[in-house]
Amino acid sequence: MLSTIIYRSHLSDDVAIKSLEALAVKANKVNESFGVTGILLFNGTHFFQVLEGPDAAINKIYDRICEDPRHHNLVELLRDYAPFRRFGNVGMELFDLREHDKATVLQAVLDKGTSKYQLTYEDRALQFLRTFVESREKENYFEIPPASAWEFIVDDQPAIEREIPLSIAENYSFAFQPIIDPLSQRIVSLEALMRNATGGSPREFFAQHSQEAFYRLDLESKKLAFALANRLDVQGLTLSINLLPMSLVMVPNAVDFLLNEIAANGLVPEQIVVEVTENEVISRAEEFDSAIKQLKAAGISLAIDDFGAGSAGLLLLARIQPDKIKIDRDIICDVHKSGPKQAIVQAILKCCSALEISVIASGVEKPEEWMWLEAAGVCYFQGSLFAPPKLTGISAVAWPELK
Ligand code: C2E
Ligand code: MN
Ligand code: MN
Repeated sequence: MLSTIIYRSHLSDDVAIKSLEALAVKANKVNESFGVTGILLFNGTHFFQVLEGPDAAINKIYDRICEDPRHHNLVELLRDYAPFRRFGNVGMELFDLREHDKATVLQAVLDKGTSKYQLTYEDRALQFLRTFVESREKENYFEIPPASAWEFIVDDQPAIEREIPLSIAENYSFAFQPIIDPLSQRIVSLEALMRNATGGSPREFFAQHSQEAFYRLDLESKKLAFALANRLDVQGLTLSINLLPMSLVMVPNAVDFLLNEIAANGLVPEQIVVEVTENEVISRAEEFDSAIKQLKAAGISLAIDDFGAGSAGLLLLARIQPDKIKIDRDIICDVHKSGPKQAIVQAILKCCSALEISVIASGVEKPEEWMWLEAAGVCYFQGSLFAPPKLTGISAVAWPELK
């Protein structure tokens, strides 16, 4: 199958521009032997390359490029399949945009094309090329330093750990994970994550119960979450809890239960954030909306969890107008290398800025993910890069510091 990859990268500082011509000649030999064609553009700082060829060959070549230290901040812009090659001439020419005048440069590039349609059809690959040639997208290039530029220094405040209150004989517990603002070195919230008797994920634990019991358990477990939070001394912090939307609907007087338990454990509603995902159809719409109103009226904040995962959708955003959204871990993963993920995060940020909703990136594991997100305008982060969840406690946070 004929596959296409387009990427953009930044030329590493230690590569002499003069040497590029020779490098391109060498790379060409490899491309030729793999049956890979395309075009390579250079604008003085950035490369833009279209690679076309058999699927396996394209992947092999692209993997090599990803490993190549001469490319820095490599971002995959497009991965697609096509019926024909746009630049099918054997070998891959290096096209230096600086050597052409602005008015004719696009035509000069297109003249190298071999597709019979030229730019007459709405071909995404050719649109990407036009955008790069006209340098219309530069404000979206976030150049981040290598991961080694930062050190993650573990807080001198030791981790906090608490015994589970003895009076509670439940066979579940909670781990807590901080949500932080790394640049101001501030913990902004603690999320309570349910754990089974052996400290494992809540998924299997929930699966053991009938649906009816499961909603009740989801709600009633929050009593323990509040009790533990109280013992962890969360004064001045918000506490985030997870609830299935239907737990608010199926359990009678669910919001009253929460409000009572919040007060009974020395907390205030303004301190609580309820995170919901739309992971099942919200079937009793009116009752759900009324629970949401009741939560808001009591001063509790709302967050949409796993945003962008497919389950928590845009309609839910319009409908409940949350205070926060948490971008799903699958979108965060390797965001610094993926054009599509970057475009999604930027759209989420734009939308949330227009609605005054704050954005949290969840599941951040790599320094590069954090740096890219911070450059794009995300301020709040959760993930093992900074602090993993800790059973009935709070891990010390590893704060980033420039070396
Ligand atoms: P979630 O609310 O999106 O919680 C974040 C999950 O990501 C947690 O998984 C956490 O341990 C994990 N995580 C945090 N940082 C990282 C990271 O850097 N990398 C990776 N790979 N994972 C990270 P966990 O604890 O297994 O919980 C899974 C899900 O179960 C939660 O996802 C939440 O939706 C649900 N859940 C947890 N507690 C409750 C609860 O009390 N009620 C309900 N209804 N759902 C809950
Ligand atoms: Mn959550
Ligand atoms: Mn999640």
